[in-house]
Amino acid sequence: MATAPFARRLLAWYDRNRRDLPWRHTRDPWAIWVSEVMLQQTRVEAVRTRYQEFLRRYPTPATLASATDDELQTAWRGLGYYRRARLLRDGARAVCDRHDGRVPTSAAELGDLPGIGTYTAGAVASIAFDRPELAIDGNVERVAARHRALRQDIRSAAARRAVRAAVAEWQDRRRPGDFNQALMELGALVCSPGPAPDCAGCPVARDCRGRALGIADQLPSRPPPPPPVQVQARVVWLPAENGTTLAWRIPDGTVNAGQVELPGPGLLTHVTDPGALAATLRQQFGAEVRVGAPLVSVRHAITRHRIHLTVHAGTARRRGALLAAAPDDPAVPWTTAARKVFTALARRGHGEP
Ligand code: SF4
Repeated sequence: MATAPFARRLLAWYDRNRRDLPWRHTRDPWAIWVSEVMLQQTRVEAVRTRYQEFLRRYPTPATLASATDDELQTAWRGLGYYRRARLLRDGARAVCDRHDGRVPTSAAELGDLPGIGTYTAGAVASIAFDRPELAIDGNVERVAARHRALRQDIRSAAARRAVRAAVAEWQDRRRPGDFNQALMELGALVCSPGPAPDCAGCPVARDCRGRALGIADQLPSRPPPPPPVQVQARVVWLPAENGTTLAWRIPDGTVNAGQVELPGPGLLTHVTDPGALAATLRQQFGAEVRVGAPLVSVRHAITRHRIHLTVHAGTARRRGALLAAAPDDPAVPWTTAARKVFTALARRGHGEP
């Protein structure tokens, strides 16, 4: 089968220009799966430093399957979007239960595992097992939208179909894993986000419709994002014995599930009246707390929520369901917001973590 011109030019460019990344030195499906999960929503540089350490700790699905929440939180620290780590562990457990600990080879079986969507299934099947599957991420969508001059909303069903059809037409079935990675690499390095794709350095520029029409920089089309939601959140700083402070573990099914947070109704809950905090802590945790003046404030963002988090001084007469944890204990999976609070408090000389 002759290699189509698009794929031939793309792969020749990829062979010369691809970045030397640790996950490109393996065909181990578990290692590739881990890298794909880490790379969702996290910068390559941040993943590069954590990937090998994570795999040293969890070299197989079976090793991750038995990890506790706290161990997992510690291993995932710095990568953000912790829910991905829990889903990865769910997937590893399913591999142990259903496939005797071996990562399945087909995209269909991979896609049946918890936490694995169409993209990840295609990426693992093509890169680890040379299966002729597509792996369409945001980079690939952008290249296809520009190259085919797709003007419709990139999230629409019609645009998704058109992107898939374009990539299927371009695909090189002899090097399916390299083809998928090459297209992603082109989107990351050349046909990059923002208004200035490097068309002069692009190996597939000659038949790019978006470039010919002079509209590449306006694609892909997206509806404007919803406006940010401003939240005034509040927590209470309740020092306890031996340098610990009172806290709570965020339950499953909510943002930051499994992580540990300072006492309050939650970071997405708007609290206008600090006087209501004590009642909330009584109701939520059975704790009797006296809430005092504000100590520090930090800013934090979760999805489109822009959070102004105020930390109040407080004393606890009864802890109820609150737990005691040390701010500097590396085994405690504090939320990023809580860590910002500790830094701000330390700067102000309160409760040096
Ligand atoms: Fe993207 Fe420009 Fe290449 Fe077209 S020519 S695919 S717009 S970098």
